[in-house]
Amino acid sequence: MPDRINVTRSSMPYFEEYCKEIRDLWDSRWLTNNGSKLKKLEDKLRAYLKMPHVTMFANGHLALESALLSLNLEKGSEVITTPFTFASTTHAIVRAGLVPVFCDIRESDFTVDPEKIESLITERTKAILPVHVYGNVCDVDSIAEIAKKHELKVVYDAAHSFGETYKGMSTASFGDLSMFSFHATKVFHTVEGGAVCTESADICERLESMRNFGLNGQEDCNFPAGNAKMSEFHAAMGLCNLKYVEEQIALRKRAAFCYRRYLTGVEGILLPEENPDISYNYGYFPVLFDPSRFSRDTVHKKLAENNVFARKYFYPLTSSFRCYQDCLGADPDSLPVAMKTAERVLTLPLYAELGEKDVERICRIILSR
Ligand SMILES: *Cc1c(COP(=O)(O)O)cnc(C)c1O
Repeated sequence: MPDRINVTRSSMPYFEEYCKEIRDLWDSRWLTNNGSKLKKLEDKLRAYLKMPHVTMFANGHLALESALLSLNLEKGSEVITTPFTFASTTHAIVRAGLVPVFCDIRESDFTVDPEKIESLITERTKAILPVHVYGNVCDVDSIAEIAKKHELKVVYDAAHSFGETYKGMSTASFGDLSMFSFHATKVFHTVEGGAVCTESADICERLESMRNFGLNGQEDCNFPAGNAKMSEFHAAMGLCNLKYVEEQIALRKRAAFCYRRYLTGVEGILLPEENPDISYNYGYFPVLFDPSRFSRDTVHKKLAENNVFARKYFYPLTSSFRCYQDCLGADPDSLPVAMKTAERVLTLPLYAELGEKDVERICRIILSR
């Protein structure tokens, strides 16, 4: 059996480099709670993402939940969002005491369709939570316009868009808040981790309290909150990995273009079209299979039989989950593009070390149907 290929493979810094980075923790014995590694990583990310405030969290999910809570929206307020995403996006809305309202996506890039947002707005709507899915940056200009007109907050799930720019602007800069995930499977990672970016000093202050039990100094609490702090060992991993992000993205881009060479022009396979306004991070390589030519599920199975593990990201839609079937906008008939995409999509393996030979092997299996 040929070597196993997973949909992703975590990047690792040099072992000695990580050891060197954590060496002084044996002297300081300061292992978490806003330590020097965390502060240094936040500084570096502020510079890298060109944002005045970056608050690190234990993971992306808690970062997103905290981002929503930091807006102090009335409980039960409606949040317009996409069902074509990872479970975390929708869960964060519900766990923050808010109500998800599902909106369909665009055929061109699978992000929320701005033309379908306005008809979903009611007097209870208080925010929009779009996702830069696969690193495809949403129509941020139209979304900003709608938000301004209806006085809505915008929180971006930017989990897939680390290191990207849109029209030269950092993807951290759109909306009121953006969340990044630094999970081991993401382009840049801290093993587990996440961050919220904002231009607002007030929100940043609330977020810092929110990740640490709502504490306000040593003797008082602002609100009841949990523990979402990032440890020094995780921050140290981030400091090491951040040095190689650009290199990683360049290698991923090479692998992505390799796929294009093998799959472009194949009848029944639709490849993502690149938007020249976006500098991509090549986190994912989704392809759509036209059911009249290919069965997505058969391709998925055949790859697995050959030790290649592609993933059906994002099937099913979060609106199809048992816990969300009765939510506003969850009716499949109101989500035709999202439904169709979820049934056809397969996310192929993509990571920095994926070589030309690997891509060739994967494409051969796909084309040998
Ligand atoms: C990874 C991911 C999250 C959650 O981040 P974690 O760091 O795994 O908690 C949220 N939304 C999307 C779209 C993701 O891909």
